[in-house]
Amino acid sequence: MSKTFSVVFVTSEAAPFSKTGGLGDVAGSLPPALAARGHRVMVVVPRYAEYEGPKDTTIEVDLMGNTVRYYLHQWKGVDWVFVDHPSYMRPGGIYSDAYGTYGDNQFRYMLLCLAALEAPLQLPINGSTYGEDIVFMANDWHASLVPVYLGAKYRPGGVYQDARTILAIHNLRHQGVYPPYTFGGLGLPGNWYQCLEFQYPPHQRQGSYEEEGRSVNHLKAGITTADRVVTVSPGYADEIQTPLGGWGMEFLIADRSYVLNGIVNGIDMHEWNPETDQHLAKRYGISNFSQGKNENKLALQRELALAEDPNVPMIAFIGRLDYQKGADVLLQAAPWIMSQGVQLVCLGMGDPALENGLRWLEGFPNGRGWVGFNVPLSHRLTAAADILLMPSRFEPCGLNQLYAMRYGTVPVAHYTGGLKDTVVNFNPWTDGGTGWTFSPCEAGGLIQAVDNALHTYREHPDSFKSIQKRGMVRDSSWDKAAQQYEQVFTWAKIDKP
Ligand code: ADP
Repeated sequence: MSKTFSVVFVTSEAAPFSKTGGLGDVAGSLPPALAARGHRVMVVVPRYAEYEGPKDTTIEVDLMGNTVRYYLHQWKGVDWVFVDHPSYMRPGGIYSDAYGTYGDNQFRYMLLCLAALEAPLQLPINGSTYGEDIVFMANDWHASLVPVYLGAKYRPGGVYQDARTILAIHNLRHQGVYPPYTFGGLGLPGNWYQCLEFQYPPHQRQGSYEEEGRSVNHLKAGITTADRVVTVSPGYADEIQTPLGGWGMEFLIADRSYVLNGIVNGIDMHEWNPETDQHLAKRYGISNFSQGKNENKLALQRELALAEDPNVPMIAFIGRLDYQKGADVLLQAAPWIMSQGVQLVCLGMGDPALENGLRWLEGFPNGRGWVGFNVPLSHRLTAAADILLMPSRFEPCGLNQLYAMRYGTVPVAHYTGGLKDTVVNFNPWTDGGTGWTFSPCEAGGLIQAVDNALHTYREHPDSFKSIQKRGMVRDSSWDKAAQQYEQVFTWAKIDKP
């Protein structure tokens, strides 16, 4: 690599400070990987809580009548910039609380975009500001107004002429859709309205203000104005250009396919390392994984009051309980799965009906459903389980299958998006592959794949072990992905805006 870039990540969440899913993981680990490769990297994220570490810079800016203040934390080679505003700190979750999604999220993330565009100009860090020669990485709809403001507010005034914007789509389903009249609150010139308006095809209309097909759609604005678009796997990059995965935006995205790339996420190799994982009862590596996993299984069986037996196959599910993750498909298959002499342990939260489904598992002697968000348990379960189920209807990349493989846990996954790019179907003839995939995403397909996995586990333990080993040595590091991102930055810089 020759050229280095100044990169500003704009994201609504970044682990370990804030996380509800994969976006938080990516924003927490890709920036350090880029910094390790010599780039100057800033992450701009809301200050949702009084984190230990970040220091008050005392620098404030006025953004359309709202004062925000910047906090800075220099860690892992990255400048983590937290935007402080009263609208971010709430007793509930990041985006919602028990009463539902916050009504002012459009405002909160508009403010994030404006604050992110000012940060490289205003914040002296290690003696200098980042300046104007920036690659902005805008993540998902929350940051999609970055290229819009850059084009509407900054470039006409001669600022950020050499800056480039890349939109990263982590999940196309969440688009930031609001009534048309909210355009007035975004402070954009009237002739930018068309850039934000999106007319859903009739079958995709969801809310009352979309009845006539009109809405203000932040993600649409990002897709059309960013210099380049990245999504988190090549498989998903293909799918979002089709009616099956495009959520009504397939034509819009296909129109930009010449600047679209899919890059498979990496994982945080320190956070998810069975040799050093502090959460585990027994740490292990490739040389002693069978014994290590057994000890973790016994510990988890004890913790969850399951029958203590290392020879019982343990099957796990970890994920948000919603339509995407296919927890309903899993629940349909659950009675059959639990009749196979296995233990089924599920961890998740989300849709109340699916949460009740998890609680229903608790009625079986060999079923457990842990409702809640519990990171230590997700580590312990990943280490203890033999098989991880991912019946996601769609999956932009998916991280759990990557964590599972690193821990010698074999994924059984729907053949979709990033799952089809990362889980290689076991081939008994060549003894190749890292798991099982199935399609279509129905209980019957899942059952058949689990049946194959259990058959291999019981009848061909050596083959099962070789699948585990191939998963454990798979290179899921960020460095590979970081190099691909560098390539995209270079293309963005070469292209004229
Ligand atoms: P998504 O971003 O669509 O939710 P990913 O697989 O990309 O899915 O990332 C999900 C992340 O959130 C993983 O790190 C996973 O372990 C974590 N996670 C999801 N649900 C839970 C839960 N209930 N408890 C702990 N961690 C969870």
